[in-house]
Amino acid sequence: MKEITSSDFEKEVLNGGRVVLDFYSSECPPCEALAPKYENLSALYGKDIKFLKIFRQQNRELAEKLEVKSSPTLLFFDNGIISSHSLTGGIKRSEIIHHLDNMLPDERVKEIKSQIKSCFSNYDVMILGAGPGGLTAGLYLCQSKINTVLIDIALPGGHVSTTHEVSNYPGFIDPQPGYLLSHNMSEQTKLCGTVYKVAVDVSQINLEKKEVIIDEYESIRAKRIIIATGTSPNLMGIPGEKELKGKGISYCATCDAKYYGDKEVVIIGGGNSAVEEADFISKFASKITMVHQFDAFTANKQAIEKLLANPKVSTRFECEPRSFTREGGKMVTEIENLKTKEHSKLESDGVFVFIGMKPNIDLFRDKLELDKWGYIKTNEDMLSSMPGVYAVGDVISKKYRQITTAVADGTIAAIAIAKEMN
Ligand SMILES: Cc1cc2nc3c(=O)[nH]c(=O)nc-3n(C[C@H](O)[C@H](O)[C@H](O)COP(=O)(O)OP(=O)(O)OC[C@H]3O[C@@H](n4cnc5c(N)ncnc54)[C@H](O)[C@@H]3O)c2cc1C
Repeated sequence: MKEITSSDFEKEVLNGGRVVLDFYSSECPPCEALAPKYENLSALYGKDIKFLKIFRQQNRELAEKLEVKSSPTLLFFDNGIISSHSLTGGIKRSEIIHHLDNMLPDERVKEIKSQIKSCFSNYDVMILGAGPGGLTAGLYLCQSKINTVLIDIALPGGHVSTTHEVSNYPGFIDPQPGYLLSHNMSEQTKLCGTVYKVAVDVSQINLEKKEVIIDEYESIRAKRIIIATGTSPNLMGIPGEKELKGKGISYCATCDAKYYGDKEVVIIGGGNSAVEEADFISKFASKITMVHQFDAFTANKQAIEKLLANPKVSTRFECEPRSFTREGGKMVTEIENLKTKEHSKLESDGVFVFIGMKPNIDLFRDKLELDKWGYIKTNEDMLSSMPGVYAVGDVISKKYRQITTAVADGTIAAIAIAKEMN
């Protein structure tokens, strides 16, 4: 792997055969997460594809010319021709492999794949999920000198990283941008010495053996596991949702509200998330129609009053969506009035869905005792029904799911484990 500058671009990239180029920056956690994967793949594919990296901050002009807007960005070139597909953000090893394989003949790909050797590592504790619960557990364990690895399928931060503003996390007088709060939590845990394996594919979890396989070749074992995998948004499960997800239907206001400046949106839901996120979306959108199945919002009173006083917001209570379609560049939401059974259509530029969450337990659903909603049952030390397997945060059975409660769970599990192991 070689570092280049703009002046080498023509020679090394345009005349360089098959090339992958990493635009990286300093103080960039996703770049740090990518670095070991990039190095590992350069050893594997390096004979066929040239692996280069370039420091974006010092080669801005070239980055702009190539439309590189964030770090890291991976660009792929074949004999001077740039691929229309690039990778950016929390880049997974499997995504890079997919692009590299497309650049090579099938036979060669087979040969390279046959050289992939599995590897093993051992830790005292393995934490699955780097949201507030997992990060706090990691911090306490690391401060107790317990060798800990933190694994996440995405970048660290969990839901907080995509929450617009957090005003109820103690210690801050002003509301904190969610990305900043989660970044600080993550850096604190990482600087303490916890090993991070993030933006990885978690393909197998064996809770009995306390073994997890990531990226299909790396096996990680530990004496204890903490499950901190949180929740994911519920889908509506109606026609058109799957097809239009990410193409007009969004589940994250912080990620997507900015694309709706002076545009009209429909929001499905009426609980805390829907009402709070609607307030944020109204900073961009010109008109918001809230569709809610009940005859009133079920969020906290203060947030409801604020939203109802917002002139951009109108409501369709006692209505449920039945389908989504895209017609002439507009999103069309078909809704049914639950009282009259009448169907009508709402036209908008985009739809946001906030209808609650479900626990992320797919890889171990049958192994642990769950409550009737599928959340993991724990005792007061956060120990699940399986010896050595703890669970913390939103994924556990409890009444209130907040950052503070996830942080508290992480603290309890880590102290309990530290006492046990010492
Ligand atoms: C829109 C929104 C706004 C919110 N606003 C607030 C607020 O203002 N104040 C407040 O206190 N709370 C708020 N919350 C709630 C708060 O974000 C959660 O309670 C908190 O993030 C829970 O932390 P956690 O660590 O349990 O899980 P999460 O934050 O959900 O993190 C779970 C992590 O696990 C990872 N993961 C998932 N599956 C796997 C797997 N198989 N293997 C490895 N990793 C995995 C995910 O990628 C994620 O990073 C909000 C939630 C939402 C959705």
